[in-house]
Amino acid sequence: MHIVIVGGSFAGVTAAIRTRQNFKDAQITLLEKQAQIGFIPGALHAILNKQIKRLEEAYFISKEELQEYGITVILNAEVQSLDSNQQQVTYQKTNQSKKINYDKLIIATGSVQSSYRIKGIQSHKIITYKSVEETKTALALVAQNHRFTILGGGQVGVEMADSLIRNKKKVQLVESMNGILVKYFDQEMLQPLIKEMKSRGVHFYFNETVREIEEIDERLLFKTQNSEITSDCAVFALSVKPQIAYLDDQIRLHEDGAIYVDRYLKTSVENIFAIGDAIQTPSSLSDESFYISLANNAVRTGIVVADNLLKPQTKFIGTARTIGTKVFGYYIASTGMTETESIFFDEKVASIHMTQPASLFNKQATISGKLIYSVETGQVRGAQLISQTNILEKINTLSLGIQMGITITELAQKDYFFHSAWSPIYDVTNHLGLMKG
Ligand SMILES: Cc1cc2nc3c(=O)[nH]c(=O)nc-3n(C[C@H](O)[C@H](O)[C@H](O)COP(=O)(O)OP(=O)(O)OC[C@H]3O[C@@H](n4cnc5c(N)ncnc54)[C@H](O)[C@@H]3O)c2cc1C
Repeated sequence: MHIVIVGGSFAGVTAAIRTRQNFKDAQITLLEKQAQIGFIPGALHAILNKQIKRLEEAYFISKEELQEYGITVILNAEVQSLDSNQQQVTYQKTNQSKKINYDKLIIATGSVQSSYRIKGIQSHKIITYKSVEETKTALALVAQNHRFTILGGGQVGVEMADSLIRNKKKVQLVESMNGILVKYFDQEMLQPLIKEMKSRGVHFYFNETVREIEEIDERLLFKTQNSEITSDCAVFALSVKPQIAYLDDQIRLHEDGAIYVDRYLKTSVENIFAIGDAIQTPSSLSDESFYISLANNAVRTGIVVADNLLKPQTKFIGTARTIGTKVFGYYIASTGMTETESIFFDEKVASIHMTQPASLFNKQATISGKLIYSVETGQVRGAQLISQTNILEKINTLSLGIQMGITITELAQKDYFFHSAWSPIYDVTNHLGLMKG
């Protein structure tokens, strides 16, 4: 059996390794259009924040390491077309067109940072940084420029604001919604962070959408419905889009261009599977799926797909959309549904807030948390945490609870370790469960 995987990042590499574990004798070929595999997109922040020194440190695997699993890795190989009737893909390598046949195909071509709607977005002074080449250009542009406009207040935009401020740059952030990280947080939770960002010099343009960008004398002019904003340079931190131009029209897509897959990660075509940022990811909380670009989903879909190549065996449990990061001195983390978005679901939910000291002996540092739960079943649907102490790992407990259907009453009794040097009396995750009257 010949299994061909297209795309050598989180999803494709994981799928390749897991497929080898499942199919000891299969021929496995991975095609990647870039000159290397396994680049970490957050590398720019890591360098600007001095967590790593060189881009060479920003890889989770090399071609040689993957080959040790007995996987053929073909680099600089861009897939140009798919013929799903012939079970064949065509790729370009060193100006030659080559064909490869598959018995099973795994599409793991992920996403690109792009927008077609904004006029002038192609300017060379607008930074994107998902690939290694883009990141090299971005590093040079950050070094050469002083005033930056960040387009988008999601995780990438807010982390970039943090990195640029650390590097003594001027930052203005344009966001079409009324706040930051709106996919993951109800805005009342982030007020301390927003206040801190403002006090460190970030200038926000909320409820404004960039419609047009003009280059004027080496500077950029951004036109929104209300403002004209100038800067030396800009960061594209808006939507990412699936990279799927080479697919044939047999592969069913969602309206947003993401590949449709069933719960076993099979596409609409026999023997073709899709994973990672190329697909709409099934939700852990409902029967729906949505487009969400997260490395953890890419890795987990990569693991699951390898079980389903011969027959549907392992259902993908879905995503609770778990994130965590540290920005402007605050650890912030979220999983599951926000209260704001709950209006889009049939279920009636309620929420609770709590603030507690971070540990028994450090009463100054606090942890604030919010829990969203179903009024009817009591099941926990979402959680958000913010603190100046590191609470990031707590969100993983809460996301596990959500995926396992834990109720708020059960959460209050969840088993936890206590040690006076490290813990408060109640663990924050239990405390949230105790807040319901
Ligand atoms: C700046 C930034 C920071 C991020 N930080 C985080 C984070 O902290 N946590 C988190 O969970 N997520 C983060 N993400 C999102 C995360 O990077 C993606 O969810 C993840 O990379 C998706 O992995 P993937 O393997 O599905 O696709 P991708 O990483 O997009 O990889 C797809 C691969 O396929 C290759 N490819 C594409 N088309 C072809 C073709 N036609 N032929 C051959 N090869 C092809 C590409 O070159 C690429 O190597 C971040 C994203 C960005 C942009």
